[in-house]
Amino acid sequence: DSPLGVHLRAVAVGGGLVAIEAVDVTDAHRVERVRRDFVANVSHELKTPIGALQLLAEALLDATEPASEQPDPEAAAAQAAEDVAASRRFAERIQRESTRLGRLVSELLELSRLQGAERLPDPEPVSVDAVIAEALDRARTNAAAKHIELVTVGTRGLTVYGNDNQFATALGNLVENAVAYSHEQSAVVVSALAEGDRVDISVSDQGIGIGPGDLDRVFERFYRADQARSRSTGGTGLGLAIVKHIATNHGGRVDVRSRLGGGSTFTLRLPARPPEAMLPLPASFEI
Ligand code: ADP
Repeated sequence: DSPLGVHLRAVAVGGGLVAIEAVDVTDAHRVERVRRDFVANVSHELKTPIGALQLLAEALLDATEPASEQPDPEAAAAQAAEDVAASRRFAERIQRESTRLGRLVSELLELSRLQGAERLPDPEPVSVDAVIAEALDRARTNAAAKHIELVTVGTRGLTVYGNDNQFATALGNLVENAVAYSHEQSAVVVSALAEGDRVDISVSDQGIGIGPGDLDRVFERFYRADQARSRSTGGTGLGLAIVKHIATNHGGRVDVRSRLGGGSTFTLRLPARPPEAMLPLPASFEI
């Protein structure tokens, strides 16, 4: 078993001769390494919120422990008020961490379903306007909290072929990211354009952007350009991997253009014809 991914095997071929067989197992090694890395990443990602939940539960138990006899009633009241305030803070953080944990598990399931899907189930004509409306609806609350304007531009009445829920998930993830990584009081623009037998749906933001070193890695599972920011926005690091799988399962793809500090544009390129009428697109970068 060599690190080069070549297995050497001695085989007796008779007459006192031994043949050395070299078997290239580079791919098998790569697949096995990717699988192992993934399991390690999943464990780490699950352990972080679980650890936080344990600590918070302990802190909550401490804060709600019945007070020992306190001779001074004023001090006792002050202590009780402090404990109530602390308990609320811990409970809010428990709520946030468990929401993130729930999201992580459902996105992992979603990703595993998409990866297992060999063929797209029954592509249907889907209205691009409806997909955009649904994606924007999902991001509206977060956008309002940051005073971000959601704008749509482009051709009306376009149709793409595939699964409407998956398209809404993919575009919803892109719009949610655009909002999460944008500055307050900016705009996120969603546009649709017919391009031959594809429809390109772009999501542009004026946010923090992505540096060149991170750009071609952001579609990898759990890859984050900025760990801290991703976590604080409730991100799981799986959103773009899901987008990429949805696009490629439909014979489409997702591209990104971005500059650190200069905003980002993610473009979902989806089929505008039923699959039998489509030519395959060259795959974008593989993980
Ligand atoms: P996350 O849950 O962390 O947002 P994603 O898979 O959706 O995970 O995105 C991966 C990483 O790509 C993010 O952590 C972030 O660093 C970067 N990213 C994604 N979308 C944008 C964007 N619109 N602007 C800047 N960075 C982005």
